[in-house]
Amino acid sequence: MAGKKKPKKRRRKAGGSGCPCGSGRAYGACCGRFHGGEEPPDAEALMRSRFAAFARGEYEYLWRTLHPEHADRSEPKAEWIAGAKETTAPLSYRRLRVLGTDGPDEEGIARVLFHAVVGRRGRDVSFAELSRFAHDGDGWRYLDGIPLPNRALPKPIDALDIAAFVALVARLEASTAG
Ligand SMILES: [Zn+2]
Repeated sequence: MAGKKKPKKRRRKAGGSGCPCGSGRAYGACCGRFHGGEEPPDAEALMRSRFAAFARGEYEYLWRTLHPEHADRSEPKAEWIAGAKETTAPLSYRRLRVLGTDGPDEEGIARVLFHAVVGRRGRDVSFAELSRFAHDGDGWRYLDGIPLPNRALPKPIDALDIAAFVALVARLEASTAG
């Protein structure tokens, strides 16, 4: 198309209105829909929406998306939410990177490996986690996860995938057991 192109003034949505999961989309068009009641279509979308929920303090959502078999589900909801609020109050959830996904396998379990940049009162408490998810009939839910702190991770983190993470966890377990 010839002619004058109007220079579009596009507001870069930095921070504030951009979704905390780092998708580049507006919160309302991304994880906000799931926090509002829609079910995420897959395990990765659920994982991203849970990170965004931590960032925004959506504790009801965090509780709702715990799998019925998740260990924390043995606690009463109100107590769990109070505990989660206390634990996460000093934390800032800055950035999320999904490093790998697989599944669902024959048992219906899907895995997501992610790296979360998190600060705690000015200190870096970033970590990587291999999370497991299963569908409970209503939607994808968080079953459990193995986290490793930054100092245990290879650099650069981009090189990390699920196989490498699993091997790393096995090596660490062998060295602490021996
Ligand atoms: Zn999002």
